[in-house]
Amino acid sequence: MSMRKALMVVDMQNDFVTKNGALYFEKAESVKPVVLDCVKKYIENNAPIIFTQDWHDEDDKEFNIFPKHCIKDTWGAQLFDSLKKVAEGYDNAFFVKKRKYSAFYQTNLDEKLKTLSPKTVEVCGVTTNICVLFNVEELRNRDFEVIVYENAVASYDDNLHDFAIQQIKDVLGAKICTWR
Ligand SMILES: [Zn+2]
Repeated sequence: MSMRKALMVVDMQNDFVTKNGALYFEKAESVKPVVLDCVKKYIENNAPIIFTQDWHDEDDKEFNIFPKHCIKDTWGAQLFDSLKKVAEGYDNAFFVKKRKYSAFYQTNLDEKLKTLSPKTVEVCGVTTNICVLFNVEELRNRDFEVIVYENAVASYDDNLHDFAIQQIKDVLGAKICTWR
């Protein structure tokens, strides 16, 4: 795998993907092993991985829309256990803490991607219709080729998942693949 590829792992945090998380949804279970497998493959090839994390203040305005979640420095904001273990020891991992759906808003992700300069960014994580969708849009705004692994993304709502996959493919021009 060439260094012209980067993996973006979106918000695989306890509050979304671990039982008792604030916004946990069951469908997240099915993507955890697939995301882990993508990450391990990237590590084998020493290719760059960007881990995004929702990272909110206690009184974030987003909590007018969603219940409180991913409060900075809490358990809920950490990557799920087995992913955290794999990610932390990896030199080519970049952690982006974000206040909004976009991982580009008031973060240094633009600079990081300029340095890494991938041709293709592969995307996995949660949730398909929110942070995955909006970050694929951001990546496409910057003319990266984007591949989304359909079996490595999930949503709390099947219809919204299907809608987002369709938008990602037909409107944003990303490729939808299955990770195997
Ligand atoms: Zn949030």
